[in-house]
Amino acid sequence: MTPLQLANLVDGTWRASAAERWVEVRNPADQREVVAEVPAMGPPDVDAVFDAAVRALPGWAQTSPIARGRILISAAHLLRERRDEVARDLSREMGKTLAEALVEVAKSADLLEYCGGLGRAPQGDVLADERLGARAWTVHEPIGVVLAICPWNDPLLTPARKLGPALIAGNVVVLKPASDTPVVALHLARALADAGLPAGVLGTVTGPARELGDSLVEQRALAGVSFTGSNEVGEQLRRQLAGRNVKLLAELGGKNATVVLEDADVELAAGTIAAAAFAQAGQRCTATSRLILERGVFDELLDKLAAHARELTVGDPLDPDTTMGPLVSPAQQRTVTGFVERAVAAGAAVITGAEPLPADLAHGCFSAPKVLRDVDPSMEIWTEEVFGPVLVVTAVEDFEQALARVNDSPFGLAASVFTGNVRRALAFSEGVTAGQVSINLPTTGWDVHMPFGGFKASGSGLKEQGLEGLSFYRRTKTVAMAA
Ligand code: NAP
Repeated sequence: MTPLQLANLVDGTWRASAAERWVEVRNPADQREVVAEVPAMGPPDVDAVFDAAVRALPGWAQTSPIARGRILISAAHLLRERRDEVARDLSREMGKTLAEALVEVAKSADLLEYCGGLGRAPQGDVLADERLGARAWTVHEPIGVVLAICPWNDPLLTPARKLGPALIAGNVVVLKPASDTPVVALHLARALADAGLPAGVLGTVTGPARELGDSLVEQRALAGVSFTGSNEVGEQLRRQLAGRNVKLLAELGGKNATVVLEDADVELAAGTIAAAAFAQAGQRCTATSRLILERGVFDELLDKLAAHARELTVGDPLDPDTTMGPLVSPAQQRTVTGFVERAVAAGAAVITGAEPLPADLAHGCFSAPKVLRDVDPSMEIWTEEVFGPVLVVTAVEDFEQALARVNDSPFGLAASVFTGNVRRALAFSEGVTAGQVSINLPTTGWDVHMPFGGFKASGSGLKEQGLEGLSFYRRTKTVAMAA
């Protein structure tokens, strides 16, 4: 298949880099296939995108929120119309199965539609004013130029989660997708441009961040950075922005735990946990990666879980029989393999996924789903994020020990408990330090109107999605008038 040669959205037109350099996007299921080439933009290209954004800001900020909302809703319709093409490209650049990619396209369209509808929501409040004849109210205003930096694991949904609220609030946005997966982010930009987004309101920047240097973050016009990605880059952004009046929203890593208590429905728990751990080959920030079992269910749950893991069919994500695709890149494959090898050297036992994969998968970045037991909570594999299909298991004596084990982590993104006891379910939801809590359900992200965001090292503590997700992207002006 001839690779797509794609351009960036710059001031309302589709442009290659001034330097005419390209980055190859390779298929993680078969590294010999180049899916697309995107411009390797340089600092002058970045400046052009920001200059266009600055010019577009006053007009967009003054556009009625209802008109802004119509554009987002039209873009949602376009994504749905283009869903097969977008899902296929998503699968080919990132490696998630076609079924998973179709869900991501549908959810991204829902997100734009939801945000579009917010154009008709109240834009402020009327306040009481004690002074005779005086009136007071608040109005929401955009913050200005927003930089949205996105990772590769949900390469359509994460940009949509940032663009939807930023644009409906009247901001202009520069979108920097991950270099492994820029193709569907450009599909999203195209849907918005085709839906009538004015020139400059959205610009895209492709190319490796390490080559762009500080040209993104050092822009003087920047009012906010909305980042999803690793803790390492999140920390770097915090340091870079310190001392500047630029807001930072950061959604970072996780090490999500699920607890199964002795009174749980073990069959339900095993199937749900297998899906939560191995969907998208474990490359979900909310994937279950630590499993804490009350001693009485340890053997039964582990047997059932291992059976579910062995039923997964690892292979080409476009093949309808495949239930688990590859990792996103050779680098990610090496990272996952390294974690598992070090865990085994430290005494962990691999109970599924140790056998070699079929030879016809040799050109892809595949990794079998792995369950590891005999894992001590002091081990690296227990404490650090792997971001792959690896689930580590430990046993505890009671509920209190389980809850303490969940919270004994620098991260606080998602957690879940399986129990038939409503008091314990409530105690878990109240005692756990995580931004997302599930009971008899998988650790997961939420529907598009439900606030999402992590605690502790998992993020800045701000929420994305829902009404709360708007607050990062707007400032509130309080007005009083004597009439
Ligand atoms: P990453 O390495 O931090 O990269 C994320 C984005 O940041 C990419 O677009 C990358 O561009 C860019 N970037 C890298 N260095 C930068 C710099 N110095 N300045 C500005 N931008 C820079 O993360 P990743 O490996 O793509 O994603 C995996 C991580 O994301 C995991 O830790 C996962 O837990 C986390 N994540 C969190 C959530 C959440 O909601 N909490 C959701 C999804 C993923 P290049 O690709 O060009 O380097």
